Formats: sequence, C-alpha cells, structure tokens
Amino acid sequence: MEHKDKMDGIWEHGSIGDKAPAWAKYRKVMTSEFPSPFRGSTDPLADAIKKAIVKIDNLKPKEDGPAYLGDSTALTYTYPEVKNIAIPKGTGDLDKVIDDAIDLFQGMPNVASPLTMANVWPQPNTASIIASLLPQIFMPNIIEGEFSWNVHKAELESAGMLANLFGWSPTKAGCVYTYGGSGCWLYGLKYALTRVLPNSRNSGVRTDGKVICSTQSHFCKENATDWSGLGMDNILEIPTDPITNQMDLGALEVTLQDLRVKGIPVISVICTMGTTDASVFDPITEIKELLDKYPNPAPYGNALLYADAVAGWSWMVFKDYDFEANPLEFSANILLVLKRNLAAIKGIHHADAIGTDFHKFGFSPYASSCFVYKNAAEFESIMRRGSYAYLQDVTPYNPMYYTLEVSRSASGSLAGWATMKYLGTTGLQAILGGILESRYYMDSIVHKHPDMVMADPDNTGFITLFRVYPEGIDAKAQFNKELSDPAARADLIKYNEFTEAIGEKLWNWYLSGKKINKKFTPHMAYSTGFRTTNYNRNGADEEAIVYALKTYPMNVFVTPEIMKHTLDCVVAARDEVIKEML
Ligand SMILES: *Cc1c(COP(=O)(O)O)cnc(C)c1O
Repeated sequence: MEHKDKMDGIWEHGSIGDKAPAWAKYRKVMTSEFPSPFRGSTDPLADAIKKAIVKIDNLKPKEDGPAYLGDSTALTYTYPEVKNIAIPKGTGDLDKVIDDAIDLFQGMPNVASPLTMANVWPQPNTASIIASLLPQIFMPNIIEGEFSWNVHKAELESAGMLANLFGWSPTKAGCVYTYGGSGCWLYGLKYALTRVLPNSRNSGVRTDGKVICSTQSHFCKENATDWSGLGMDNILEIPTDPITNQMDLGALEVTLQDLRVKGIPVISVICTMGTTDASVFDPITEIKELLDKYPNPAPYGNALLYADAVAGWSWMVFKDYDFEANPLEFSANILLVLKRNLAAIKGIHHADAIGTDFHKFGFSPYASSCFVYKNAAEFESIMRRGSYAYLQDVTPYNPMYYTLEVSRSASGSLAGWATMKYLGTTGLQAILGGILESRYYMDSIVHKHPDMVMADPDNTGFITLFRVYPEGIDAKAQFNKELSDPAARADLIKYNEFTEAIGEKLWNWYLSGKKINKKFTPHMAYSTGFRTTNYNRNGADEEAIVYALKTYPMNVFVTPEIMKHTLDCVVAARDEVIKEML
C-alpha cells in the first residue's frame, strides 16, 4: 500500500513524468539507450549498428593496403598500467562508447586481408556474421527450449547436416555447440570417462585410465586432461610414422596390448583428423579395428573413439564431388590433392564423436565449435543430470541436462548453421579447392628457387612450410643433410637461427607497413620446430628440430600474384638479414 503511493507521481500516462524523483528521470535516459520493446518506434539500434559497421569497415585499408586495420600497428597501452582504471561514474554517450570500441580495432591484424596468412584464422563469411549477431538482440539461451524456442532448431539441424556429412544416421546423432575445439575435446573426454568409468560422475576419477593420441595431436589434450581431473600424466603419446606423420599403428598395438595385460582401461583414443600444421589424418579405420581387437576388461565400459577434426572436417564436403566430371574445373594436381584429403578423412564415420570448428575451416566467427556425437540416446542418457526445480521441459529439446555450460549462446549455432545453409557443400568445395590452387602455385615457385626447399612437401592442407638459404646453397641437398646427418647438426642450428631472423624481419616489416616492389608485405609466420630430425625422432635433443617459414593462406581473396609477392618478400628479407650479418 505504502509502496503504491510512492509510485504515484512518477508515471504520467504510462511514462515518467516531470515530477518524478531523480532515479526515475535518470532511468528514462537509460531506457532510451535500450532497444524499444515495440516495432516502428524510434529505436537507435538498427541505425546505430549500421553506423558502427560503416565506421569499423573504414578501418580496412584502401585496395592493396597493408595487412592490418587502421593506420598504425602500435599498441595503444602500457602494461600493467592499462589495468589502472575504474568504472566511469557518469553515463556514457552511445556514439562515444561505440567509437571507443571501434578504436580498439586499430592496428589489429586484418583477417579480411589476403596478405594475412599467419595461422588457421579465416575471414568469416557474411551469412555467418549476420546470423551470429541476431542472438545478441533477443538473447535466445540454448539451455533449454523455453528460452530459445525455435532458435534451437539451428543446433538440431546442424546435428543432422553434420551427421549426414559424416555418414551417420542424422536423427540418431546429436550435437552441442561449445567454446572451441578445446571445448569439443573436453566434451569428448567427459563422454569417454563417463562411458568407461560410470562411477566417476559421482565418486570422481579414481582410476588412471589412459587417453591415447599421437605425438602430433593438438596441445589442448593438456587442457582437457588437466581440467577434467584425469591428469596430464594419463596421456599416452604414440609416435608418428616419419614418412606419413600418422599415428604409428604398430606402436599403438603394442600400447593397447600392454594396457590390456596390465588391466588398465583405455578411456579414449583420439584420432587427429587434420593436424593444425602438417594437416595429417590419423588412420582411423585401422585404429578402430585395433580398438575392437583390444576391448577394455570388465568392469570398464568401451573406450571412446574421438575424432579431433576441428582443422580438417570440411574436407568431407568432397564426398559427393564428381571427380570424373570435375564440375568446379579444378586443375589436375589440385584434383589429386582433394582426392587424397577425402580419402584420408573418409573413415571418420567410425568415430563415436567428432569435434568440428566452424571458426577454422568453416569460415565463421568465434566461437562456433560443434561437438557432434553419433549416438544421441547414449550420450544424452549417460551424461544426464537430474531435474531442476526452476526449469521445465516445454519443448522436446533441453540440453541443460547434459551440457557443460548452463546458459549457452545461440551465436555459435547460428554461425555454423548459416554457413552450411549459405555456402552449401559446393560453396565450401569451391573455397577449399580455390585456396589450394593459390597454395600449390606458391609451392611451384618455391621449387623454382634453388635456394629454397619445401620443409613438409607432402602436406596437402593450406600451409606451406619452407626453408630459405643464402644464395648459392643447394637448398634441397643442404636440408636433406640437416635432416638425416647428425654431423650436420651445427648447420641445422645455424640455419634455424637464420630462418628465425628472416621470420622476425618479415614480422617487423609487416608491423611497420614496409613495402617491397611497391607492395605491402604479408603477415606470415615461422615455426620453431614443427618436426624433429630423423635421428632425433623422440625429440630428446631439444635443438635437433626444424624451423621453417610458414604461410597459411585462408583468405578467399588470396591469389597466385599474392603468393608470388610473398616469396619476393621472403627473398628480400633473406638478403637484408645476410647484409646485417656481414
Ligand atoms: C585449433 C585446434 C584445436 C583447438 O581448437 P580451438 O577452437 O582453438 O579451441 C584442437 N585441435 C586441433 C587439431 C586444432 O587444430
């Protein structure tokens, strides 16, 4: 009663009146900064978003500009002083806050630039950007149906589209969009622990079961085993074949036999289907056979076969490609590469679960990783938690009972879903094959430089790893010696340092907006040890490893001219490094 009296005098005809207390007037200002609840009213949102996008787009360079946004790559803060800041007291101005936000993008490496080729870092496609923005406005929460309603169809249809792609029954499969390829890995590990050690959900992980993957598997195995409580010591790394870089099947069998004899359960075998750098696919079909040959002893459940395909899943879009008719008219050697990649990933249907990143080879914004599982009935029941008093099932889809997350954004689902709907398999084929055309053109010119050598010639992904030597050195012969002859160890180390100096030079040229032949230099990278030498297979000698310069073109605007220019820049950097050494 008393409270109602107080509310009188604030509201006049449904809005806040002149005689209202200060808090109410202040609130009036603030509500004007929220989107209107109703259609057609004066709502700043759509106009302001358009204005912001025009402004941020203005950070893009003019044609043939540098590979960064804005006009300088200088960092605009000092550390740790930057953290010495408090929340402002007064209300901000919308335009000013958005301008300040846009300013944060000054100097950032420009993922839209074809000169950007440093990592697995694609420019997102337009449909995925727009689709992933929409949930920011209306907050669908894919915790359960009530708070996402039809929006969660994006996740359900993603499960179906991806299951079909991977050769599974679409209605029996399921998926959860989560925070990254590392999130998918953690989901896979949790699924595996739950299946193999059912009691672990209540009493904790009390058995040192093993997680088996290759030495070239992604380092996020540490995040997952650490955070899950299984412990990093329970990772068993199987060496890779020196020629194919794949998990060595003989070594895997020895390990499985040994564990079987000791009665130690295998929690999961992880097949990396597309390693980040070497783009290698573990032989999943043969690995599945071995896993069936050495099942876990009672009372443990069956080990989970997980495919970490976050950096390789999309090669599967070629499964329906007509390689005979070649409708997209890829050149003959690219056709061979595509066939090889498809053959390497094809056995992926053997996996129980697959990690896919749309923000890598799906050309979508972060974070749009999708953990896909073959047997939804199993995953969703063994991972099931009880009911929650304040949430009720009002639609058939309520993933809150088995997800790691509680609230879950729909942005990732919409990004992945829109990408599949918009690009389709043909669009993805054209993008993947098209980038390979430029990449292999670059390989062909590396071959023409006697002072350069491909350091990983069998790699059939987007990456080129190569070494450059001083003029006059026969790079192929020199590199072969360094790879196999322990007597050339000093040379190897010397040219590793040389490679690093060239890589650093190119990095600084990129940062400073340097031009070679009147064109800006690329943002590329170098690897300090993507492989060991042949006489150091177990990596015991920390210095007998191979450094290489690295280009990882992922941008659809990349052209053969840009790849050729990139090599011209490498030669120029090499020559300057030599000059500085004299
Ligand atoms: C990138 C990568 C990951 C980690 O994925 P994020 O999306 O960066 O979390 C895991 N495995 C492989 C093979 C990767 O290439």
